[in-house]
Amino acid sequence: TYVITEPCVDVLDKSCIDECPVDCIYEGGRMLYIHPDECIDCAACEPVCPVEAIYYEDDVPEEYEAYTQANADFFTAT
Ligand code: SF4
Repeated sequence: TYVITEPCVDVLDKSCIDECPVDCIYEGGRMLYIHPDECIDCAACEPVCPVEAIYYEDDVPEEYEAYTQANADFFTAT
């Protein structure tokens, strides 16, 4: 799955939402989140993010690691 990280906070550009073929990117509070069970790993969203907030789960930088869990938790909490 792909993961949205800290640079998205308070930006919410939403270019990624238009690109996602399965509509698995959702708005929540101060950022956007990718549903980990719905994402098909197509990578379409990654290059269109103007703040480079989107990473493949295995490539999330160490300082943003908590966002992998945050994306999953967003959907289990709601
Ligand atoms: Fe959507 Fe593809 Fe990005 Fe997953 S990788 S969130 S399916 S655009």
